[in-house]
Amino acid sequence: MRDSITRSLLLLFATALIVSAVADRMSKLNSTTTQASTNTEPNPLLASWEGPYGGVPPFDKVQIALFKPALEAAMNENLADIDKIANDSAAPTFENTIVAMERAGQTLDRVSTLYGVWGSTMAGPEFQAVQREMAPKLAAFNDKITQNEGLFKRIESVYNSPDKTKLNSEQQRLVWLDYTNFVRSGAKLNVADKARLSQINQQLAGLFTKFSQNVLAEEDGQFVALKSEADLAGLPQSVRDAAAAAATTKKQEGWLISNTRSSVDPFLTYSDRRDLREKVWRMFIMRGDNGDEHDNNSTITQILQLRAERAKLLGFPTHAHWRLENSMAKTPERAMELMMAVWKPAVARVHEEVADMQALATKEGSAIKIAPWDYRYFAERVRKAKYDLDQNEVKPYLQLDKLREGIFWVAGELFNFNFTPATNVPVAHPDIRVWQVTDRTSGKQIGLWYFDPYARAGKRSGAWMNSYRTQERVNGEITTIVSNNANFVKGKPGEPLLISWDDATTMFHEFGHALHGLNSNVTYPSLSGTAVARDYVEFPSQLMEHWLSTPEVLNKFAVHYQTGKPIPQELVDKIKRSATFNEGFITVEYLAAALLDMKLHTAGDRKIDPRAFEKEALAELGMPHEIVLRHRLPQFMHVFSSDSYSAGYYSYLWADVITADAFGAFTEAGGPYDKKVAERLRKNIFSVGNTIDPAAAYRNFRGRDPKVEALMKKRGFPS
Ligand SMILES: [Zn+2]
Repeated sequence: MRDSITRSLLLLFATALIVSAVADRMSKLNSTTTQASTNTEPNPLLASWEGPYGGVPPFDKVQIALFKPALEAAMNENLADIDKIANDSAAPTFENTIVAMERAGQTLDRVSTLYGVWGSTMAGPEFQAVQREMAPKLAAFNDKITQNEGLFKRIESVYNSPDKTKLNSEQQRLVWLDYTNFVRSGAKLNVADKARLSQINQQLAGLFTKFSQNVLAEEDGQFVALKSEADLAGLPQSVRDAAAAAATTKKQEGWLISNTRSSVDPFLTYSDRRDLREKVWRMFIMRGDNGDEHDNNSTITQILQLRAERAKLLGFPTHAHWRLENSMAKTPERAMELMMAVWKPAVARVHEEVADMQALATKEGSAIKIAPWDYRYFAERVRKAKYDLDQNEVKPYLQLDKLREGIFWVAGELFNFNFTPATNVPVAHPDIRVWQVTDRTSGKQIGLWYFDPYARAGKRSGAWMNSYRTQERVNGEITTIVSNNANFVKGKPGEPLLISWDDATTMFHEFGHALHGLNSNVTYPSLSGTAVARDYVEFPSQLMEHWLSTPEVLNKFAVHYQTGKPIPQELVDKIKRSATFNEGFITVEYLAAALLDMKLHTAGDRKIDPRAFEKEALAELGMPHEIVLRHRLPQFMHVFSSDSYSAGYYSYLWADVITADAFGAFTEAGGPYDKKVAERLRKNIFSVGNTIDPAAAYRNFRGRDPKVEALMKKRGFPS
């Protein structure tokens, strides 16, 4: 357990991924399988990482059959490391206990990285079977460490020692983090309660796996077939091409709309066929709720009851109180307060948006009443009418490769980074490319950046960042390895891949997480990079989104794929003018899900029927009838595929308050590339990891606490 419990848990449940609120679908899971290796050679997944750049993950050595023995051997090694620390005859010190824990479990860290990459990008049926078997075992393993009484006694002793004040602030924070994490994981419970806690954790791990695999099965197994040209009415060529490609993949004639967001949303935006929009919409919102063998409702009921019981065991009124204790928000009440402050103006904006859409429909002589499957379609047409902006007009200027150069350039300006292609680095799939990151001035290696841009069978859909190796100095000068992952449909050979403005924004977002990892400059791995509070981790990433629309990036990198000319100022102005368009919809569909997440996890231990709960809670909130939750409960992966984002979906909003306020520091100074503000940002935010309380870190950067006004302005709501 080289890293904190928090990070170990994240890694082991393969949710170390930092997922995006708006792009987080899981897609079909099929991948090529490999034969079991029955020889007696050493398991290559356990080996140290060899090769250039301080060693790289051996993706070329992975076989699925190797995962189970590798995980088991690495867990045993980790437990032996821990026993050695716990049974040390010397009196407990920071060095022989806390630092020793930072050094333990390195093999498991390495195996977990490979296991996590397979889980998110290469997960076929054979791998899923390994996941089902290993999830409860990994949960039990974690409990063995947090329930190791000898170990906890030593941590507690260091925590309570008067010598603690002699440690530097990073060391003191590490002691606090270890102690708190152990207590939060039940280290102080009696023997019977510890046993029950471990039982609960193992049951939950199994239920999380079941929940995820059910959603995957429905996304993979269901689709709406489009049979004729008439079924394609209104669809732009790119959507038709994607639908044809999806049909080919599923060995169907014609075209089809898969049951994933990347397939469904464009169809709902452009299809003129209202009947088909409704059909596709119903398929999508019913994932996990069809009363068949993949129905998730009873799984949710069990998860909620086990979480409530666990919270009580640990001495918290509810699961949400337990989860939020070490967050920035600290309590569910404070998170709710922010959400409700934004909810009211967002709902009011939705009523205005619906009125605009209804007026357009009526003007065209249509007798329809706007329904949820009409929202995206009419919103797009109102956008065109109000701002003369067609999203398809922007696309020719947004080439994936050029934008990647753009984010590299921004990283150079803000953080003095230089990116060069890395060679001789094994990858999990030939589409993945790797860059070496160095300091522009000294040439010193900062780390490696892997980019896995394309959708494929077995890969989780959406976009995310993953950390393969964290920067630290306890085990030598260790440099960062991070990856960004997306699900673009691969273009035709030789043709540049064009992406939407939203996708370009997501690229900058995920790259923000990568820069958070790459800038890390700490001593202890548990405190490194993105290992910060859940409601703070989205701040660096959301902040980086702002650089896409800077004139410097647009003029140099948003160039037409045929003429090479930069995007016209007129088009940029239209994008800027329409910046808060449809913000009512975007905020309400997200926030309703975040509110339900918090309401579910503050509801106590009563038995919850998810369908009834969803209906009643939304009625109580005054949810507009024209919008459905971004994630209905039976498919809410953030909340039910692990504990990680549970009672934590509010985090995106919380972090956006900080983001909006932080960007003001640049606009108030010399602009987005102001060197002094960029240096303050690096020094106080991007490089410090979890070595300091995030609220204090922010004050060091901004000179004060964040104000909510900037967020309201960013979203176009009255404050
Ligand atoms: Zn993110």
